[in-house]
Amino acid sequence: MSFELPKLPYALNALEPHIDARTMEIHHGKHHQAYVTNLNNAIANTDADKLSIEEICKNISKYPMPVRNNGGGHYNHSLFWTIMAPNAGGAPTGDLAAAIDAAFGNLETFKTQFAAAAATRFGSGWAWLLVQNGKLVISSTPNQDNPLMDVADVKGTPILGIDVWEHAYYLNYQNRRPDYVTAFWNVINWNEVANNLKKA
Ligand code: MN
Repeated sequence: MSFELPKLPYALNALEPHIDARTMEIHHGKHHQAYVTNLNNAIANTDADKLSIEEICKNISKYPMPVRNNGGGHYNHSLFWTIMAPNAGGAPTGDLAAAIDAAFGNLETFKTQFAAAAATRFGSGWAWLLVQNGKLVISSTPNQDNPLMDVADVKGTPILGIDVWEHAYYLNYQNRRPDYVTAFWNVINWNEVANNLKKA
């Protein structure tokens, strides 16, 4: 079995003006494709080629670094595309809204803390909203690590993540990572995040 690049669930320009089409084209078609290709090469003829990407992440300390970097890259981006959508943003509802209020007090406090995690991750990495022991927690990870990984400082099941590698925003925002994070709130697909919470 080999991993495949998932299709984007919307057009390349669907997230404009918040995330531009050229960034999406390179990010999905070049960067994510490279993670998939390199992951497949790294696990070829090993036991890992029978496992799901989640199973690989959960035992990532057993694998060489190319599996960690590219397996994380594949998992993280596969999640990332789905938690964004055109005509999205706004506020979560139902169980997700209640869980955010329970963990952070209110949506605004959550957004402030999540944006801070994204802004302060030095260099390349991700910020996450994850479920840990039934509760929502914010974390960030370096490189292509994620909270599923047994090497993560904060472990759990991610339900929302933002890519803060420069390749995710540099064409449109240059060095202004906080502006990209602010724009991200306009494209969050809260329905999908709520689905992820149900499954976690
Ligand atoms: Mn990326």
